[in-house]
Order: sequence, then C-alpha cells, then structure tokens
Amino acid sequence: MQKKVVIIGSGFSSLSAASYLAKAGFEVALYEKNKTVGGRARQLTKQGFTFDIGPSWYWMPDIFERFFNDFGKSTADYYELDKLSPAYKIFFSDDVITIGDSMDKICTEFERIEAGSSQYLRKFIAKAQENYDIAINKIVYRPGLSPFELVTKDTALRVDQFFKTISGQVRKQFKNPKLIATLEFPVLFLGAKPSKTPSFYSFMNFADFGLGTWHPKGGMYKIIEGMKSLAEELGVDIHTGHAVEKILVEKGRATGIMVDNKTIAADFILSGADYHHSETLLDPEYRQYSEDYWNAKTFAPSSLLFYVGFNKKLKDIEHHNLFFDTDFERHAEEIYDDPKWPTEPLFYVNFPSVTDKSMAPEGHETGFFLVPIAPDLEDTPALRQQYFDVIIKRLEERTKQKVENNIIFKESFCVNDFKEQYNSYKGNAYGMANTLLQTAFLRPGLKSKKVKDLYFTGQLTVPGPGVPPSLISGKLVSELIEQKK
Ligand SMILES: Cc1cc2nc3c(=O)[nH]c(=O)nc-3n(C[C@H](O)[C@H](O)[C@H](O)COP(=O)(O)OP(=O)(O)OC[C@H]3O[C@@H](n4cnc5c(N)ncnc54)[C@H](O)[C@@H]3O)c2cc1C
Repeated sequence: MQKKVVIIGSGFSSLSAASYLAKAGFEVALYEKNKTVGGRARQLTKQGFTFDIGPSWYWMPDIFERFFNDFGKSTADYYELDKLSPAYKIFFSDDVITIGDSMDKICTEFERIEAGSSQYLRKFIAKAQENYDIAINKIVYRPGLSPFELVTKDTALRVDQFFKTISGQVRKQFKNPKLIATLEFPVLFLGAKPSKTPSFYSFMNFADFGLGTWHPKGGMYKIIEGMKSLAEELGVDIHTGHAVEKILVEKGRATGIMVDNKTIAADFILSGADYHHSETLLDPEYRQYSEDYWNAKTFAPSSLLFYVGFNKKLKDIEHHNLFFDTDFERHAEEIYDDPKWPTEPLFYVNFPSVTDKSMAPEGHETGFFLVPIAPDLEDTPALRQQYFDVIIKRLEERTKQKVENNIIFKESFCVNDFKEQYNSYKGNAYGMANTLLQTAFLRPGLKSKKVKDLYFTGQLTVPGPGVPPSLISGKLVSELIEQKK
C-alpha cells in the first residue's frame, strides 16, 4: 500500500521534499497556512508592479539546475534565466564599486581601487572554487547525522579553514576597506558576522564572482511557480490557507496532524515550517530542544523591508544595489552583539525593473528595500517610517537625484510580520546562521530524536539558510524518509 506523508509549509524546502517524495512513490499532501505557496519567497503584485517579497539574489545556478534535472527536467522548462551584467553595484561614501559578470571585469575594478590587488583576488577565488567543489559535491548533500560526514581527504587537508574566519582570511590579503567589505558581503547570506564565519565558506565568494548573479525573468517567484507545477505534475496534493494546529503523536510515533479541528492521518510527518514553531505543535514531552537552546543560538538577522512603486525610471542604479556607505562593523555589532535598531543602517535595494520590463509598468521602477536588523526588535509604524525616510534620503544623496516625490505607494514588512505570517522564531528573516558551532551535525536535526516518523526541513536545519540550501534540505530529508519506506 502507498504510504502517506503530510508536509507542513510550502517554502522552497517543503516544495522540494514534496516532489522528491512523490517521485519516490509516496502519497503526499502539503498544508500551508498562507493563501499562496512559497513561504518567505511569496510575491506581491500591485498596480502593475511585481515584487518578490523575500529572496532576490539567484546564486548557485548549478543547484537549481540539479534540482530540476533530478526529475528529468531543466530550469528552462519552468523559467527563463538572465545572467546580470553588471552583477551588482556597491555604493560607498566616496566611491562606487561595480561588480561585472566576469573575473576579468572584476579584476579591472579591483585594480582601480588598489593596484596589485587582482593577483591576490585571482588566487583567493581559485581557492574559493576548490572549496565550492568540495562543499557542493562532497559535503552539502549529506544529512548532518554524524561528524564523520565532514571528514573527507579534502576537508582533512583544509581543517584549518574551519577554525580560521573568512574575515581574517580576507584581511590578510586585502587592505582596502572597500575591497574587504566587497569580499565579506557574500557570507552575510549565511546569517552571521564574517568574523564568526569559517573561512571554508569562501565558497560563497566563488558563487558570487565565479558563477555570477542571475535573474529568473518575472522574478524569483517564477521558481516557486515552477516547483509548484512540478509537485502537482507528480501528484502532490497542495492545500493553502490551512494552518496546522497540532502534530499528533501516539506511543512515541507521529500519526497525523490537526488542521481546522480535523485529524489528517499519515505514516510520516515532515515540517518545513520554522523548526522552533514546528516543535511547539508537539506536546512538550516530545520537543527535542528547550527554549534555552533556541535562545542561545545565533539567528540570522530579521529585516525591515519596503516594496515601493516609483512613477519614473531612476538613474545610476542597477538591478542589485548595496549601500555600504556607513560603518559596516557598527551595524553588524548592532545586529549580533548589542541588538538594537541600527544607528546608521547599511541597506540593500533591488530594482528588478532595471533589467526586466515585466516587473513594472513602462516608465516606472519597482524598488525593494532591505535593512538587516537584529531579530525580535520592537517593531512599530513610527520606527518603520523613521528608517524609510533615512534610506530614501541616502538613496537620493548617493545617486544624486530626487525620488521621494515619485513614490506612488509603499508597503512595509518587518519583525511582527515575520512572526505573524510565517511563525518565525523572533521574527528571523532567514533562519539560523551557519557558524562553526551551527554547521552540519551541530544544527537541529532533519529527523526527530524523540518522535518516530517525524522529520524537519528548511533553513533552521541542515544545511542552512538560503534558497539553494533549502532545495538541498528538501532532498536530504526525503532520502531519510525513503529509507523507512
Ligand atoms: C527578506 C529576505 C531576503 C532573502 N534573500 C535571499 C536571497 O536573495 N537569496 C537566497 O538564496 N535566499 C534569500 N533569503 C532566504 C530564503 O528566502 C530562505 O532561506 C528560504 O526561502 C527558506 O525556505 P524554507 O522552506 O526553509 O522556509 P519558509 O519559506 O519560511 O517556509 C515555511 C512555510 O511554513 C509555513 N507555516 C508556518 N507555520 C505553519 C503552520 N502551523 N501550518 C502550515 N504552514 C505553516 C509558512 O507560512 C511558510 O510558508 C531571503 C529571505 C528573506 C526573508
């Protein structure tokens, strides 16, 4: 008889797992609390503007391709990809660095900033590429069940890179603060300070400079739509607008869920909702991790987000823009060491309509603004407005143009929305950070240690935050469930 899996949530990890499990012959039903699928990667459309609500950087195209290839498909069957040129722009207080779409262009830009730096850059990226090959081909597709998964001939030769930090590594070779910030930026995706992130994670620099920045035409939500279609083609039964109220356990085994006061029985339960929330759906005796455990962990930042429609095209901007024109260290301290609203925030702005006409009405610009902040900060309309005024003014100053009077509308999203819309622990935006002590087998596990037939996936478990890791997380957990079939 066909065994049944119930999946909680519809983020990248849940949709990924759903397809793998359906392909393996399980009956799969997925329950999502929100009205649309996609989790943190949902879409907002308004007055002809299209916004990705969460992720906007498409890095590691090989991992997306590998996901669809596992089903005999290709990304091209579901969406069209453009390689962005330039990849992005970084605004500093006295200069702008443009990251091109090839190593040669990036080396020319590094030389402009610091003569002689390109030879170090080429060596740094060559080493980062080796790490990428090891991480992606030999480590990251392992389920984090044992420390031995990390022990390979290649990692043994690089063990020092797990104990040195990316920050130390970069600063040994580069002295210019702008180049340092440029090279430390990619590991911010892993959720911790570069000074707390092992230098082995320089593979993110290869993802950045070596593999490039891509854009699915129509936005990141096209990936979600593709994954939803794939899951449905494979027979997954998707229910949106249904919050799971409880995970049912009988004699130590997960037997089903409660939704809308009804019991749905299953052979296996898999939750892709935030791990902390998933455990609160269990009676306390079945939870593996205490509140103290979660509280002691380093979480990735939360974010203050704005979705803004402009009634004109803006100048001197690119698809991706980083505003690193204030003190990087101080902002990082105000996220991780002394959590408070940032004194002078760094921020990121995505204008997808610069390269993709479908994202805004003609002659208009779609703007997504992101200020990283510590999780669980007080979140009020007045604070949101205060920071909006600050970042719009900075955008105007750095790009030397007036934009404030060209705003048709703005929507915001912050800590309270992350909690309310995703049941996010402390309103984190992108999960639990990948620090040395929160890597692989040291992260919350894919499989419950207390309840049989209960599994977890997503950015709080293995391998970590980000869209590509979430795709991999879904694959890893489905393999564990398949072993029990
Ligand atoms: C603002 C922002 C920017 C980001 N930028 C990038 C980027 O540029 N590139 C990148 O690679 N990554 C980025 N990320 C990270 C990336 O989006 C996430 O790592 C990834 O989407 C997480 O997927 P997930 O499956 O783990 O969880 P989620 O997407 O959070 O999915 C969990 C789902 O579970 C649902 N749920 C919760 N409780 C219940 C319940 N009781 N019953 C039913 N359903 C429930 C939630 O509604 C949600 O849909 C960003 C994230 C954010 C928030």
